[in-house]
Amino acid sequence: MSMGSACADENKSKKDKMSNKIVIVGGGTAGIGVAAMLRNEGMVNVSIVEPKKVHYYQPLWTLVGGGVKDNAESAKPMTDIVPSGVNWVQKAVNAFDTANNQVTLDDGSSLSYDYLVVAAGIQIDWYVCLKPHTKKCSLLMYYCIIMCLARSQS
Ligand SMILES: Cc1cc2nc3c(=O)[nH]c(=O)nc-3n(C[C@H](O)[C@H](O)[C@H](O)COP(=O)(O)OP(=O)(O)OC[C@H]3O[C@@H](n4cnc5c(N)ncnc54)[C@H](O)[C@@H]3O)c2cc1C
Repeated sequence: MSMGSACADENKSKKDKMSNKIVIVGGGTAGIGVAAMLRNEGMVNVSIVEPKKVHYYQPLWTLVGGGVKDNAESAKPMTDIVPSGVNWVQKAVNAFDTANNQVTLDDGSSLSYDYLVVAAGIQIDWYVCLKPHTKKCSLLMYYCIIMCLARSQS
């Protein structure tokens, strides 16, 4: 094999890798961060599946709770946050079919992928605080008391 054809093969294989289809479930801080990194690496076929139009930067909420920041400051339109060149699919994922490399969306359609990133976050259960005497309840109450104290000191 000549040097020229070896180089051409290498370039083709790199190009093929860069065009792998990547689907990221969730457009929160993690999903957006991963999408930006992949784009910076040169991946050209990256999609984020995220149903919400507004992105919330949750770490700021501690300061919102402490009265230092306004909640509106934690919100940004998804259109401002999705990295350039990334395809935003404004839907939710209803099911994963890993055997066939595809996810089912909430409109019944499906999206196929070569690589899947699941960054759907967690579901916060504020109501756990209504159930007394649980460990989680104590932790949350402790957190609330600290925040109130911090606020009263400022
Ligand atoms: C009060 C508070 C303070 C915090 N402070 C800090 C801090 O100081 N530092 C820190 O590092 N972390 C902090 N965190 C944790 C913070 O939540 C994470 O750091 C970060 O926001 C998590 O990002 P994520 O992308 O994993 O999840 P999220 O930001 O929750 O994003 C998940 C996304 O997935 C989407 N999604 C869910 N289900 C589906 C589905 N089926 N299909 C498609 N999309 C879906 C959601 O709509 C959401 O947009 C704090 C959290 C809270 C609540």
